[in-house]
Amino acid sequence: MPQILEGVPVRTQILNGLKPRVARLSRPPGLAVILVGDDPASGQYVRNKIRACAELGVHSEKLTPPASTTTEELLKAIETLNHRPEIDAILVQMPLPPHIASRKVLEAVAPDKDADGFHPVNVGHLVAGRPAPRACTPAGIIELLKYYRIPIDGRKAVVVGRSDIVGKPMALMLLAENATVTICHSRTANLAEECRAADILIAAIGKPALITADFIAPGATVIDVGISRISDAAEAERLGKAEDFAKNGTAWVGDVHPIGVRRVAAAYSPVPGGVGPLTIAMLMTNTVNLAERHLGVS
Ligand code: NAD
Repeated sequence: MPQILEGVPVRTQILNGLKPRVARLSRPPGLAVILVGDDPASGQYVRNKIRACAELGVHSEKLTPPASTTTEELLKAIETLNHRPEIDAILVQMPLPPHIASRKVLEAVAPDKDADGFHPVNVGHLVAGRPAPRACTPAGIIELLKYYRIPIDGRKAVVVGRSDIVGKPMALMLLAENATVTICHSRTANLAEECRAADILIAAIGKPALITADFIAPGATVIDVGISRISDAAEAERLGKAEDFAKNGTAWVGDVHPIGVRRVAAAYSPVPGGVGPLTIAMLMTNTVNLAERHLGVS
């Protein structure tokens, strides 16, 4: 059985480290969250973020324009937040409705209030190795690897997925930690062979159980970022999720085959319970870092 890389203790350690930093500030850090429309999943994500703020002593504000809002209205709201000194960080919950120019909206957030680290200026800082807000999910994975003392320096890391929010920033963060990094994607030839070269394999694809045991080198560390909902009982059973399915009528599964990985890997972050808990902790980290910067605390 591999070592199971649980996210909760890492989250606890990160949040405990932030508490005294928040207490030292002359005012609470401020996070504004923009939630457009009434998508239930997005609504739940935002509630979790607001709850994390309350627990940490971060001031939060939620703006909830209707799904019919326009790009121009959103740009105006962001402009107002950009100018408010007590707001340190701004988060636009994705996805936005299809009629909204998402890229334009994300790029309207001032780079020094960019809670999610998605602004091209901050991506540039990541490439250049300068401190800046970092994409939360990959930043959380680096914290997970460090917490469990998984060596990164000099190791071969393979990232499957090249999205702007997970795959690409993940590869850059691993590079900054001196890994030798390969990025794979939907056009990669011989995906299994590429993956088998990895000491650290990161799967950020969104295809349930695509990464089977034959993709994994014996002794590798496997980080499963994907989250898919399984609504077929037979599939849940095949993936060892029958108990979850019986309880909830549905089951969550990652990109990594949960039974296969346990036969080969030395360490594995499960879904749920691995990477998931860390994303909000890193959002809080970005928010506190930005507040310290705005208040001149180094
Ligand atoms: P995305 O759809 O933007 O990107 C998926 C990537 O996978 C693409 O780059 C694509 O090239 C690659 N891909 C698709 N099919 C492939 C295949 N057959 N072989 C190899 N590569 C393939 O997704 P994303 O936003 O990067 O998210 C990926 C997964 O991670 C999703 O399941 C998402 O829900 C999950 N996620 C989890 C968290 C978390 O907090 N745990 C955060 C963000 C995303």
